[in-house]
Amino acid sequence: MTAPVVEMQGDEMTRVIWDWVKELLIEPFVDLKTDFYDLSLTNRDQTDDAVTFAAAEAIKKHRVGVKCATITANVQRLDEYKLKQMWPSPNGTIRAALDGTVFREPVVVKGIKPFIPGWKKPITIARHAYGDVYKDVEFETAPGDEVALVIKGKGEKTVHKFAGAGVTLAMHNTDASIASFAKACFEYALAKKQDLWFGTKDTISKLYDGRLKAIFERVSAEYADKFKAADIWYDYTLIDDSVSRVIKSGGGFIWALKNYDGDVMSDMVATAYGSLAMMTSVLVSPDGNYEYEAAHGTVTKHYYNHIKGMETSTNSVATIFAWSGGLKKSAELTRNKSLEKYAVALERAVIDTIERGTMTGDLVPLFVRRGITPVKVSTKAFIKAVAERM
Ligand code: NAP
Ligand code: MG
Repeated sequence: MTAPVVEMQGDEMTRVIWDWVKELLIEPFVDLKTDFYDLSLTNRDQTDDAVTFAAAEAIKKHRVGVKCATITANVQRLDEYKLKQMWPSPNGTIRAALDGTVFREPVVVKGIKPFIPGWKKPITIARHAYGDVYKDVEFETAPGDEVALVIKGKGEKTVHKFAGAGVTLAMHNTDASIASFAKACFEYALAKKQDLWFGTKDTISKLYDGRLKAIFERVSAEYADKFKAADIWYDYTLIDDSVSRVIKSGGGFIWALKNYDGDVMSDMVATAYGSLAMMTSVLVSPDGNYEYEAAHGTVTKHYYNHIKGMETSTNSVATIFAWSGGLKKSAELTRNKSLEKYAVALERAVIDTIERGTMTGDLVPLFVRRGITPVKVSTKAFIKAVAERM
């Protein structure tokens, strides 16, 4: 390698997997260069979370990062790790620093059939990670309450006059955030050479969803020539129509979604493709910085068994694909053909290992392939089996 990628180590079972993946699958084949940050909860606490901000800055500098899953602190972790305070989610911090959009794509293997039989290719979900109900303001209302939406000094609109008890909320978004989301989606579609789909409910929410539609349309005009040259399409439909067309599709496109739609649909799509442990995730900033990770968490329950000395069978596929994704991107940016070849071979080896019947326990009940009886192996044995195929 001629340039480093930013390596962000994490917590629990995925931290254990991380070291095994490096030791068995990467370091024997690649002269790995990384700019290393330990984002474990312990180190975030020791550095007053400065390490997370430093890692985000490093991604802006080196343009590619690979991140292990990390614990998001909560009340229980405060006690478990004797924390100074409840540190915010590192993913939230990095996402805010990069102004990024998260794309989630399943790893598709033969033998693990999507619940939707027509889905032959992966569907990548792009979720707008700002605003809407995630930054809303809510009130419970009482009989007789009259709720209005007010812009100070400018005017107001009546929301509802309550005869009985009820609830109300206000939410917002910004043109800047929507535009950077749109731009990240168009860039990603170009990079993947896949169509981009987007849907809202602009027939009902004429101003709010209408604004999202309009900004996407404006950005789509900026990309029209590049899309034409790549022979890909931008396609807008109402969200409900979009959902039914996605179910009937063969996959193989980017599905851009509003914040809430993306939250809901990413879990549906992950489950429909088989397992959360096969879902990869990449954060892309509008100016072209990339951070790769697994979509799942630190697999706490497996880790507690691991430290008791019990053998675990934890799926490392999404973590391995985070590494291969980061190394492929690095190869592209530094024009490193042999690194690119290695990353492709690594992904092929993972897929072959599963397709020939060797897999972790989570996949066994999902696997159906004529002539092959799936064999459940331990976390480490799976990684070793992949290494043997390299
Ligand atoms: P999780 O770690 O994704 O695990 C939830 C369950 O899903 C596991 O108990 C396991 O089910 C199954 N699972 C997930 N990944 C798997 C894998 N690779 N192989 C096999 N099974 C897998 O979610 P969580 O338990 O809600 O969260 C644990 C910690 O992760 C939390 O501290 C949370 O804050 C953090 N988290 C981090 C990220 C991130 O860094 N991106 C994302 C989500 C959560 P069984 O127990 O049934 O085997
Ligand atoms: Mg969710």
